[in-house]
Amino acid sequence: MLKDYEFWFVVGSQFLYGPQVLDTVAQRAQEMADRLNESGNLPCKLVYKATIKTNKEVTDVVREANYDSHCAGIITWCHTFSPSKMWINGFVDLQKPYCHFATQYNRSIPNEEIDMDFMNLNQAAHGDREHGFLAARLRMPRKVIAGYWQDEDVQKRIGSWMRSAIGVMFSRSLKVMRFGDNMREVAVTEGDKVETQIKLGWQVNTWPVGKLVETMDAVTDAEIDALMDTYKAEYDMATDDIETVRYQAREEIAMKKMLDAEGCMAFSNTFQDLYGMKQLPGLASQHLMAQGYGYGGEGDWKVAAMTAILKAMSEGQNGGTAFMEDYTYNLDPNAEYSLGAHMLEVCPSVAAARPRIEVHPLGIGDREAPARLVFEGHEGPAIVVSLIDMGGRMRLIVQDIEAVKPILPMPNLPVARVMWKAMPDLVTGVECWIAAGGAHHTVLSYDVTAEQMKDWAKMMDIEFVHISKDSTPEGIEEQLFLNDLAWKLK
Ligand code: MN
Repeated sequence: MLKDYEFWFVVGSQFLYGPQVLDTVAQRAQEMADRLNESGNLPCKLVYKATIKTNKEVTDVVREANYDSHCAGIITWCHTFSPSKMWINGFVDLQKPYCHFATQYNRSIPNEEIDMDFMNLNQAAHGDREHGFLAARLRMPRKVIAGYWQDEDVQKRIGSWMRSAIGVMFSRSLKVMRFGDNMREVAVTEGDKVETQIKLGWQVNTWPVGKLVETMDAVTDAEIDALMDTYKAEYDMATDDIETVRYQAREEIAMKKMLDAEGCMAFSNTFQDLYGMKQLPGLASQHLMAQGYGYGGEGDWKVAAMTAILKAMSEGQNGGTAFMEDYTYNLDPNAEYSLGAHMLEVCPSVAAARPRIEVHPLGIGDREAPARLVFEGHEGPAIVVSLIDMGGRMRLIVQDIEAVKPILPMPNLPVARVMWKAMPDLVTGVECWIAAGGAHHTVLSYDVTAEQMKDWAKMMDIEFVHISKDSTPEGIEEQLFLNDLAWKLK
C-alpha cells in the first residue's frame, strides 16, 4: 500500500527576485526530492510539484492534491521569502495531511560568497517564519520538522511523519466488518459509530454470523489443503488433531472471502455469537492479522480498526503489531510486569520465535476446543494504544512500554503471551492509564511510535494522551481536566 502513495513537495517563493532565482529554486527543489528519495529513509515517494508564486498556483496545487487519490499529503518549504497571504485560499481548502519542512539548501553560511544575491536566494530562515505564521493563524493540524535536509535523522523524521499521514489516508477509507454485536454489558467496547465515521472515516457495519457459516460450508477441501500448507510452512504443528486445525483454515478462508468481497481491512467477532460454528476462530484470526487485517475480540470494532491502522502505518517494518489485552500483573517489587494475552487472538507478527499450533479447550463460548498459535512476544521498546469514546469526542491513549522475555515459562498457559514493563513504572503507569480511561484491549506495536500516533491524532482532530517515562498521575490528571475544558469549547 505504501507504494500506492506519494507526497508532494511544494516550495514557496515569489516573482520579486527574477526568473533566474526561480529557475535555481526549481532545480534545487527537484534535486532535494531526488536525494531524499534515494536516501532510503522515506517510505513513500516525494514528488517535487511546484514553486509557488501566486495565490492561484497554491489553490491549483491544493485542489489537485485533494482529488488525487495517490497524493497522501503535501510538504512545503520556503527557499526564499514567500508572502503567505497568497497561501490562504489554498490552505483553507486543504484536505490532505500537511508537513512544514523548515530547512535550507546550503548547510553552512559561505564566508566569501555571501552577498545580497545569496541572501535573496537563501532566506528560508526568513520565509519559513512567514509561512509558519500563516499556518498557525489558520490553526492547521500540521507537522513542523526543522533541520538540514541531507541529515539522516531529519530524513527519518519526515519518513516517520509520512507513515502517520498514511494512517490518516488508510483511516479515511477503512471498512470494518462486525460478526455479531459487542459482548453483552461491556462499556468500553461501545462507541458512537456515526461520530467515528465523521471524525475518522471508518465504515463500521455488521454481517450475520449465518452468512459466515454459509460461506464456511462452501469452502473446498482444496482451498483448505493450500492454507494448511501455508500453516505448516510458517508454524510448528504441535498437535495431532489435524481436523481441528483444518476447521480453523475453513473459518479463515471464509472470513477472508467476506472481508475481501466488501473491501474490509478489519473485523470483530464475539464468543457470545458463534451460532452454527464449532470453534471460536483462533488461529484463523491470528493468521488474518499476520496478513494485515485488524482484529478486535468481543465485538471491539474500535480496537480492530486501530490494529489495522497501525499495521498499515508500519507496513514493511518487522517489529510487529498485535491486538492485545492486559491480563494480569506480577507485583513482585523486584520484577514488576504486566502480562498481556487474549483468550486466543494475538498476532504472530510479535513472536520471538516460530509459533506453535496447539489445540486446547476454551472455557468460554460453549464450543469445541479451538486451534490457536502459542508463542512468546519478543523483547524491545513498544507502545500500547487505546481509543475510547468519551461521549462527544474520541480520546487516544498511548503508553510507552518495554517488552521483556517473559520471566516465567508458564507451561500451562495455552495462549500467546507478551510481558512488559509499563512506563514510568507498573504502579504509576496503571494509575495514569486508569485515570485516562484506557481500555483493557489495546494495540501493541514495536514499530509505530508515540510521536507518530500523536501526529495521527492531531490530523484526525481527536484528543491525545501520552503516558511516558516522565508521566506522573498528577500531571496526567491535570492534562485530562484541561483537555475536558478545551474539548468542550472546541
Ligand atoms: Mn478481550
